[in-house]
Amino acid sequence: MTMPAKIYYDSDADLSLLKDKTIAILGYGSQGHAQAQNLRDSGLRVVVGQRPGSPNYDLAKSHGFDPLPIPEAVKQADLVNILLPDEVQAEIYRQQIRDHLRPGNILMCSHGFNIHFQQIQPPPGVDALLVAPKGPGHLVRSEFVKGGGVPCLIAVSDGASEETFRLGLAYAKGIGGTRGGVIQTTFAEETETDLFGEQVVLCGGVSELVKAAFDTLVEAGYQPEMAYFECLHELKLIVDLFYQGGLSYMRYSVSNTAEYGDYTRGPRIINDQTRQEMRKILREIQTGQFAREWILENRAGAPAFLAMRRRERNLLIEQVGRRLRKLMAWIDAKEVT
Ligand code: NDP
Ligand code: MG
Repeated sequence: MTMPAKIYYDSDADLSLLKDKTIAILGYGSQGHAQAQNLRDSGLRVVVGQRPGSPNYDLAKSHGFDPLPIPEAVKQADLVNILLPDEVQAEIYRQQIRDHLRPGNILMCSHGFNIHFQQIQPPPGVDALLVAPKGPGHLVRSEFVKGGGVPCLIAVSDGASEETFRLGLAYAKGIGGTRGGVIQTTFAEETETDLFGEQVVLCGGVSELVKAAFDTLVEAGYQPEMAYFECLHELKLIVDLFYQGGLSYMRYSVSNTAEYGDYTRGPRIINDQTRQEMRKILREIQTGQFAREWILENRAGAPAFLAMRRRERNLLIEQVGRRLRKLMAWIDAKEVT
């Protein structure tokens, strides 16, 4: 049997371990703005490293921070949390962070990609620590303000001290994570399961499933508007039921006809061939093949990535959707340009 994960709560974490330490939050985006403010509200000393000239710089200012250039923030800090986009972290680490770290500092992140795939290798005497909220930054902030917290993952690098782990729990407490619960993991597990989930289900799997179903109806002569509602729009209702009560609650809430179709037709869509491909995608993640591909793509200026983005934005399902969403005022329709 698989052992249930160990979960840490408020009483397992000692915030006072951080009281004489300075925490640098590098980047004031989704995670940066939330974690910096929560830590400050928890009574901790926070410096923000954020480049000037962007809305995020102004936001940090308006929240009462005095953003510094990244190297300056690193120099002042005991714990340095890199909350920059994953694909720029390695270069910024080499150019603006590495040379300013001192032994005893802790290098932190909220996603393990760069540490696990060795794009960032902390110098001797610097442990790596991951505290990853399982939710977007705005939720990390809003739940904290309400007195709650978003659950977090915690992991330390091989050979890290027990002290680093305890500081990680204290950090998680500072952002509200121990109010929700903090699950211990490893850099490998966090990174690999995160990539697998987004590729196979959350982004890749779901998008392709929706597109294929939409195309099938349109090719068969049904109106694209009908195909949009059935194959994309209504997905939200189903996902909300999953979120609240898992597969069983979704099946309890839909009609018996829908539930029967689920059991009998679902396995024909996600079949042995699909499961085989999932294992292959997992191996590409585990061996680092996917990471190498994505790193090289970025080094080349991401031409294939940008071309795919352009093409996908112009699909028929996107054109139809843009029109239909305008008819539904409650949706808070968004458009990317
Ligand atoms: P965002 O894209 O929201 O914010 C990125 C920040 O980095 C901004 O402040 C941005 O500043 C700055 N930045 C971007 N490019 C550069 C650059 N070239 N040089 C200097 N600064 C730069 O990032 P997220 O908060 O989404 O992600 C941060 C980390 O958190 C990632 O490791 C991610 O995987 C992880 N994470 C994110 C979650 C989420 O829901 N968003 C959930 C859990 C983990 P500027 O405004 O100037 O561009
Ligand atoms: Mg994820």
